[in-house]
Amino acid sequence: MKELSRKRILVTGGAGFLGSHLCERLVMQGHDVLCMDNFYTGAKDNIAHLLDCANFELMRHDVTFPLYVEVDEIYNLACPASPVHYQHDPVQTTKTSVHGAINMLGLAKRVKAKIFQASTSEVYGDPRIHPQTENYWGHVNPVGPRSCYDEGKRCAETLFADYRRQHGIDTRIARIFNTYGPRMHPADGRVVSNFMMQALTGQPLTVYGDGSQTRSFCFVDDMIDAFVRLMTLPADPGSPVNLGNPHEISMLEIAQRTIGVTGSSSAIAFRPLPVDDPWRRQPDISLATRLTGWTPCTPLDDGLRKTARYFAALAGTARTAADDALVVPQQVP
Ligand code: NAD
Ligand code: UDP
Ligand code: UDP
Repeated sequence: MKELSRKRILVTGGAGFLGSHLCERLVMQGHDVLCMDNFYTGAKDNIAHLLDCANFELMRHDVTFPLYVEVDEIYNLACPASPVHYQHDPVQTTKTSVHGAINMLGLAKRVKAKIFQASTSEVYGDPRIHPQTENYWGHVNPVGPRSCYDEGKRCAETLFADYRRQHGIDTRIARIFNTYGPRMHPADGRVVSNFMMQALTGQPLTVYGDGSQTRSFCFVDDMIDAFVRLMTLPADPGSPVNLGNPHEISMLEIAQRTIGVTGSSSAIAFRPLPVDDPWRRQPDISLATRLTGWTPCTPLDDGLRKTARYFAALAGTARTAADDALVVPQQVP
């Protein structure tokens, strides 16, 4: 790589699920990567295989405190992402989103760095339009159990938009829809990790409600492609950009598919629907495609097989129906 295109890049939340894949991609591209994390939900095991790379550096730090480093680009991913994790300490979740955004924007302003924000489809709440487009303002409960995350991320978007307008900061706001793959935390309570662990250990798959609520799942490799493409655009798009796979599926069907790819004989057990659980979610990604040429390319069953291989190693299951999968975890926590 030419020296000119080699950048110093800060990834906050770099030891988490998405962050570790992003660090890996940027290290492979030859950039100098500074991975910052307080290990709240992330793990050193996720980035252990990068520690010997000369262009990778790990820093324990909490994004709610100021950080003075010299970088060219910032990817701000630090924030617990699963409902179980972000509701565990909801005040800290809002602080992480809001104070974290202020600190990283202040840093971007001082060093004139380009800055990416990992926002979320949760800014749409329980949406009244379908599929969701970026100009939809959302339908969010400001005082419910999900609000610490939803409103924290909405306020972070406001800060990014205002730092752009007021200080000319070059921003990229990605509204990330449900993403899955290897290195998801096995106990984060998210649907794919729950179903994988349950299927691989012979437990019933816990479908909340009647399982007819939908999500649209994007495989992690596709999502990381989108992050890098969005960051590489020559100019700030001036609008948040939806990133996700538009393939919409019900929770009952994903339970059945998980049983299929793992070859499990687990049953399905129905449990109460959590409060404020969004009913439907599907991204309209035409803006992302128009701006970057990106569309996700991993079919759901292929992604689930790769994910099953990872969880099989975690669960100590020797073999699954995912025997044609390519991904093997580097470390088993
Ligand atoms: P994750 O929990 O695996 O990763 C988050 C990382 O941030 C962890 O490593 C955690 O330790 C770290 N972190 C948390 N609080 C911190 C703090 N105060 N200071 C420093 N580090 C801190 O979750 P993920 O799925 O990798 O999500 C990454 C980002 O993407 C999050 O901002 C999340 O909101 C966003 N996102 C993810 C999804 C998804 O489906 N995975 C969907 C929408 C948005
Ligand atoms: N900040 C940081 N690193 C820097 C510069 C700023 O962490 O290199 C933090 C600092 O906590 C500051 C915040 O970013 O309060 C916002 O910075 P800004 O310059 O926008 O506003 P300030 O509060 O300094 O007036
Ligand atoms: N869900 C489920 N069983 C589980 C975990 C989750 O049926 O064991 C449902 C949950 O109620 C929601 C969907 O799966 O409707 C996605 O949940 P997740 O926590 O993964 O993501 P989010 O709700 O934040 O999109």
